[in-house]
Amino acid sequence: MRLPLYSNKIENRIHHVIVVAAGKGGVGKSTVSVMLAWALKRSGKKVGILDADLYGPSIRKMIPCDKIAKTEQGRHYPANTQGLLSLSFADFSNSLQSNSMRAPMIDQWIREMTQNTNWGTLDFLIIDCPPGTGDILLSLSQQIKIDNAVIVTTPQEIALLDVRRTIKYFEQTHVPILGIVENMSFLLTNGEKVELFGSGGGASLSQEFQLPLLAELPFIPKLGTLSDKGFHIFESSDPVYDDLKNEINRIVLNIALKKGGEPLFSL
Ligand code: ADP
Repeated sequence: MRLPLYSNKIENRIHHVIVVAAGKGGVGKSTVSVMLAWALKRSGKKVGILDADLYGPSIRKMIPCDKIAKTEQGRHYPANTQGLLSLSFADFSNSLQSNSMRAPMIDQWIREMTQNTNWGTLDFLIIDCPPGTGDILLSLSQQIKIDNAVIVTTPQEIALLDVRRTIKYFEQTHVPILGIVENMSFLLTNGEKVELFGSGGGASLSQEFQLPLLAELPFIPKLGTLSDKGFHIFESSDPVYDDLKNEINRIVLNIALKKGGEPLFSL
């Protein structure tokens, strides 16, 4: 299944499009997208993040903006937060009315946010995809050239059933998957690892599909509040986020090195 309809309007200016996908919601896909975007930005890259989760856009809450997303003469401009560009479906006033959308509407919105948005020149566009392999992902695949995907999952089996379908979708559409991020793998209490949501899911997926396991991220109880307030881990000096920061930086490094293949970019 190849969906080669995208126009190359923005391809020349966005050098690398990475979709962050998951089988189901609530596994931390948006959180991981935002952390990756900040880590890439901090490594000196020009980065944009597109919240393509039309049914539950959450990125704007996590990335408040000092220069808001706007529309001028029919073109959209992403928000700018300390140099990180972002555009969320929530930035459009009619997004609130659009809880249920037929495929043509979804197509239209995805076109607005990709081809009709002035992203400028970017090293990376991170796309926070809705869970699963529905119309939004199909539209994205047709409207923008997706270079790579990162798969986010939690360790438990129920999440893994859905994530397999998502992995197969990228295989069928010939989008190389950079690897699997297992999120909320464990909670560290008094130096002991407590496995809140089972264990080994990411590792078994990695083995099954021969994909790198990029990281097993800890569950940090304070993270939800931090994100809800619009802060990211890299601007917090609380040592509780140190392991998470290291892991996210390691993912970026791993992606950059792209073990076994050509380096994706230099840091
Ligand atoms: P998704 O995009 O997959 O629906 P979110 O990124 O919105 O998931 O995360 C769901 C909830 O889990 C949010 O409240 C978020 O703050 C929280 N969360 C995500 N990852 C972690 C983590 N590693 N530790 C603690 N809370 C997390």
